[in-house]
Amino acid sequence: MTVSSNVFVVFDKYHKKNIKSSTRAARSAGVQHCKEHVITLTTPIPSRDVVLNVAHNKEQLIEMITEELLDRTTSVNIGDTVIKHQAIVPQLLAAHALTGCDTVGCYFGIGKIKTVKVLKAGYKLNSIGQPEAQHETIIREATQFIAACYGEKVGPNDSMSDIRYGHWISSMGRKSAASVHQLKTLPPTSEAFVENVKRAHFQACIWRSALTGEAPDMDPLENGWVSDDDFGVLRPVTLPPQTEIAPAAVMKLIQCGCLSETPCSTERCGCVAGQMSCSAFCRCRAEIRTCRNRWTLLKQRIEDANDSDEDESNDEDDSDD
Ligand SMILES: [Zn+2]
Ligand SMILES: [Zn+2]
Repeated sequence: MTVSSNVFVVFDKYHKKNIKSSTRAARSAGVQHCKEHVITLTTPIPSRDVVLNVAHNKEQLIEMITEELLDRTTSVNIGDTVIKHQAIVPQLLAAHALTGCDTVGCYFGIGKIKTVKVLKAGYKLNSIGQPEAQHETIIREATQFIAACYGEKVGPNDSMSDIRYGHWISSMGRKSAASVHQLKTLPPTSEAFVENVKRAHFQACIWRSALTGEAPDMDPLENGWVSDDDFGVLRPVTLPPQTEIAPAAVMKLIQCGCLSETPCSTERCGCVAGQMSCSAFCRCRAEIRTCRNRWTLLKQRIEDANDSDEDESNDEDDSDD
């Protein structure tokens, strides 16, 4: 088991007259036996309800905890923090969405600390989360921001794929051969990136509208989501349909030389490890009776299904004649 060395204690603070005061008054009114106690470090603490439902008791407990903690730890005043970082506060929603949240994928190795650093360096995300913003503007801002997270400079017409390429070149020079092959450390391709940015924009639009009580009139299916009717859920679009996962020339270069009696059944097969079907260039020739690569079998099944669809539609054509 790993134990985190950081423990964060967060207290809410309500001013005397606030929109929640009537709820809190009602809460303590319902508990008759609760009375005010004198809470100290050395006396037993009263029951949870007695402490939490009587404001005076709760205040004493919080004061005691904070005083004890202040001696040993750092205390962060949220109100002061907001004032201190005013310049980046308007960007936080968009930046949080774009760099990864419940509905948006994050980028390997790019965390929230890096995100704040890039914000402090002056990068802006003014259009993400604004329903009327132009798609091109959103993508340009997002590209510049994420490129900065990877420590890359962006030319005016650079796409995320250009930055991916540039980052690969520079990391080739810096790192050992072993770590260069960590594809996940590279920025995404433009195709995958654009879908992620759409989801970030959609999410930020919803957050920004939270105080109005009315969600923006936007369709998730046009913002990086696809409907999975079999399971009745929305799924993120990882790549737009018909996107080639690599140039054809590269695909042809990838082949395995599996020789065993049950070839391509484990991750030792380069094709299986790359989550790809085998091909005619492999030693197994992607023969369906020989190759045990599950991706080869899946591809075969899809092709069979497509063939039978075509047969059916051909049949229909025939009957029309
Ligand atoms: Zn193989
Ligand atoms: Zn194979």
